[in-house]
Amino acid sequence: MTEKEEAATPKKGKTEKKRKKEKGVYTLYKVERDKVVRQRPTCERCGQGYFMADHGDRYTCGHCGFTRYKHA
Ligand SMILES: [Zn+2]
Repeated sequence: MTEKEEAATPKKGKTEKKRKKEKGVYTLYKVERDKVVRQRPTCERCGQGYFMADHGDRYTCGHCGFTRYKHA
């Protein structure tokens, strides 16, 4: 009587999650002496408070998807 044993149960290895660079709101602002400079434009559709992501030659709003091309 043989009992088939699946001894080799695949061990689920702990996959290390790659640490995402946490981007806080603080990265969007640059403080120069006494004034705060916005580093990114805000979405003209969503209004103030919605920053657009810098995609090199254009800005994109992650909220509504609005894309604005940078002026050359
Ligand atoms: Zn938007």
